[in-house]
Amino acid sequence: KEEKAWREVRLNQILKWEENCPYEDFIDDEKIWSIIEAKKEPERQEILEIIEKAKENAYTGAMLAPEEVAALANTKDPDLWEAIFEAATWIKNTVYGSRIVLFSPLYISSPCVNNCAYCGFRQSNEAVKKKTLTMEELEDEIRVLTGMGQKRLIVVYGEHPVSDVKFMCETIEKIYSLKFGKGEIRRVNVNAPPLFKEEYEEIKTVGIGTYQVFQETYHHETYRRMHPKGTLKGEYKWRLFALHRALEADIDDVAIGVLLGLYDWRFELLGLLYHAYSLEKEFGVGTHTISYPRLEPAVNTPITTKSSYLVSDEDFKKIVAIIRLMCPYTGSILTAREPASLRQEVLKKCGVSQMDAGTRIAVGGYAEMEKEHIPEKQQFMIQDTRSLDEFILDLCREGYLPSFCTACYREGRTGDNFMPLAKHATVKNFCIANGILTFKEYLLDYASPEVKELGEKVIIPEYLKWLEDNIPRAAERVKELLKREEKGERDCHL
Ligand code: SAM
Ligand code: SF4
Repeated sequence: KEEKAWREVRLNQILKWEENCPYEDFIDDEKIWSIIEAKKEPERQEILEIIEKAKENAYTGAMLAPEEVAALANTKDPDLWEAIFEAATWIKNTVYGSRIVLFSPLYISSPCVNNCAYCGFRQSNEAVKKKTLTMEELEDEIRVLTGMGQKRLIVVYGEHPVSDVKFMCETIEKIYSLKFGKGEIRRVNVNAPPLFKEEYEEIKTVGIGTYQVFQETYHHETYRRMHPKGTLKGEYKWRLFALHRALEADIDDVAIGVLLGLYDWRFELLGLLYHAYSLEKEFGVGTHTISYPRLEPAVNTPITTKSSYLVSDEDFKKIVAIIRLMCPYTGSILTAREPASLRQEVLKKCGVSQMDAGTRIAVGGYAEMEKEHIPEKQQFMIQDTRSLDEFILDLCREGYLPSFCTACYREGRTGDNFMPLAKHATVKNFCIANGILTFKEYLLDYASPEVKELGEKVIIPEYLKWLEDNIPRAAERVKELLKREEKGERDCHL
């Protein structure tokens, strides 16, 4: 009863906000389809020119036009696809360098008043047991996560009175306060339901990193079918402008995403682009990251395997590469929803910049790690079950620099202080330096002998050489800090 009353009060507040919404819906379904249709058969020369333009944009922070994204999405020639993949990798390395930022998702509370058709946590799904961590259980989760070497989290909450903004603040403060030996969490990003401006102001006070809200699908009709009317998530406009309200409340970094498999992926790509344009237009900052979770099977949730828009592996690679070309400055997040072999491939050719590893998505799942899968407690199934250390070993074997960096956020390089660095391709100077320093901490405190060997002998020397060749002053400073880390100092960063 209490839950119902809470939902009703909130829904009325949301409807009132929508009535007075200061923004115009920037998604015009018909217009998007007409652009996709008009670019159905792009010329080879046009695609080559778009690729060149995307590469130039890596230095200016500009994004591609919707027509250009539609042309890329309609490309069929395999040779041109190879050129697109090459450009995606080039842009990623030009902006961020070949480092991969690592993080873990942490599910804190699963009860939810919504009924999203694709989600195991939806209210009507009695086959999944819902749970909210107690403060002691939260502490256990952080002990395990920091014990692996994690420094950066994305905390996840359902939409429910038990996980209201007060609870979110308490749990995030608790996470920052915990220290286990040398282990600590230094950046907490949030994936949670849309809030009112005043609530974002409240959550800003506990020092969050990025606030993520995925629109799931930008297609109005599909959105309505997936998110029943009368639920809080049923309100399209409320969700579409969730991050506008966050920026009004001075949240530093915001992040968008779609759930691939609900509707035609070409349409969703244009939706993401228009969303990034709108944030840029209204606030002068783009989206900090873009996520593209693919629909995964969830217990008692048939749509997850039956949707007619499920995305194939081949199309998935294309989507990730196009995102890199359309928005060169943005972080691109590839999650453990995908199987390990596909993740390795997407990593190599599609311009990904952030990945989770050692992931558990059951509430309380890290402390229960000995059990591989706990389907009846999960929102959906994950596919990449490599441990963090195994994942890092694979990264090192491919020559990537595993990074636990959280420096930008803590040095005030956020929002419109961060964007110029990403938009002019200079952020990699910080990324590589801090990547080396945080990877060194991992090697000293957590790594297996195999990772240690490869890290100390190959990866660190290789990236130090890159620094020496490109920014000798930073290289000197990093060498000095590495010595201090060897003597026991931690959290050294630029
Ligand atoms: N309740 C909040 C919300 O909906 O915004 C928190 C996020 S929800 C727990 C995290 C994200 O998981 C959703 O935004 C959705 O994109 C994704 N998700 C939900 N069901 C999924 C499924 N079956 N497979 C893959 N991703 C899924
Ligand atoms: Fe709730 Fe989010 Fe799942 Fe929808 S996706 S049912 S809002 S947890």
